[in-house]
Amino acid sequence: MTDLDLSRELCGFIEQSPTAFHAAAQMANMLDEVGFCRLSETQPWDVERGGSYYVVRNGSSIVAFRVGEHLPQDGYTLQMAAAHTDSPMFKVKHVPELEGPGEYLRLDVEGYGGMLDATWLDRPLGLAGRVMVRTDEGRVESRLVASTKDVALIPNVAIHQRRDANQGFAYNRQVDLCPLFSAGALKAGAFDAMVAELAGCAPKDILGKDLYVVNRTAPRVWGWADEFVSAPRLDNLQCTFAGLNALMATHNDAHVTLFACFDNEEVGSGTSRGALSTFLRDTLVRLNAALGYTQETYLRALAGSFMVSCDNGHAVHPNHPELYDAPNCGHLNGGVLVKEAASQKYTTDALSRAVFTAVCQRAGVPVQTFANRSDNVGGSTLGNLSARHVSVPTVDVGLAQLAMHSSYETAGVHDTACLLHALQAFYACDLRLEADSFTLG
Ligand code: ZN
Repeated sequence: MTDLDLSRELCGFIEQSPTAFHAAAQMANMLDEVGFCRLSETQPWDVERGGSYYVVRNGSSIVAFRVGEHLPQDGYTLQMAAAHTDSPMFKVKHVPELEGPGEYLRLDVEGYGGMLDATWLDRPLGLAGRVMVRTDEGRVESRLVASTKDVALIPNVAIHQRRDANQGFAYNRQVDLCPLFSAGALKAGAFDAMVAELAGCAPKDILGKDLYVVNRTAPRVWGWADEFVSAPRLDNLQCTFAGLNALMATHNDAHVTLFACFDNEEVGSGTSRGALSTFLRDTLVRLNAALGYTQETYLRALAGSFMVSCDNGHAVHPNHPELYDAPNCGHLNGGVLVKEAASQKYTTDALSRAVFTAVCQRAGVPVQTFANRSDNVGGSTLGNLSARHVSVPTVDVGLAQLAMHSSYETAGVHDTACLLHALQAFYACDLRLEADSFTLG
């Protein structure tokens, strides 16, 4: 498959994943199609050598893994990668409507994550998320909803009413960013009625909602030389897409290979299914027991295991190169970014960089390096958080992109393939870590 074809496939994946719930559901479908077996956290696990499995928590986080056919009886190690399913967007409050002024009906929303507010204005927006629905049998079940048309828009104030708009304007999220839902055709209660219609139930049977205003603008590959891919939610569905495909495409007889995708990275990861939760640890402990290993074998396994934490990073901005550290900055289509920070907010150190570099050299994948300017703290990611419960050597990597947390982000068309090939080589290799040295068989 060419890089261009892969990017077009990525566009389709993103289009089908308006929220973390949809991303996890789509990943589960993809795993089902290639024969992964779904495990339930509330049921006993039957896990065998040579098998492929996945677990979903909260409908929005997912851990998929493959057990080597010839996993040794006396011990094993894990070759793991991780990413996140969520992206910044506006969440609709439980009582969703603001009535007026006049005939207007607006939506009452709050920010989920740190988005670039201005990029959400003046573009038609859709609605997506999940609702909890009471069924005839007295059960309450989760249903995914996604509007197939745009239903809201956050209008700017015209330049004539705000002459200083181009001098820099700070949006007040309670005042300026309420999406317009109707100009009079719809009356109070219409939003919940719409949601019920999307969910195929009566409004009274919806007991809970996680609904977001989402950008439905179609992702696209563009540029006279087809260099760019632009889409909503590239952070972090680009890494998610690459990581999942790498796991599905690779068999490793001697190790456990695993890809974890967590929700709630954009709000600090401190939830029951975020990178700070016990989800990954719980999965590993149960996998270890299901394979008949002891607790000591588990701890030995962790000591020899490795994690590649994948989250998009920054490409140098064409108009603002001064915002980046010149020798340690990323470029579109320059290969996989390895992120490093002395603070250890990026987990990369000499050992983990060396492992990943050796893997990329084997795969023929170019590597570039990213460090924040020393006078800028930069963003956060999930590797250092996941390491609190599953403490293994971790490298922080990602793909370079522009306009992170814009409602429409831009990346390089060749980079998805770079991460895919790097992770395939990682999953396929025979990594033997021993304290602070390793071999790559
Ligand atoms: Zn991210």
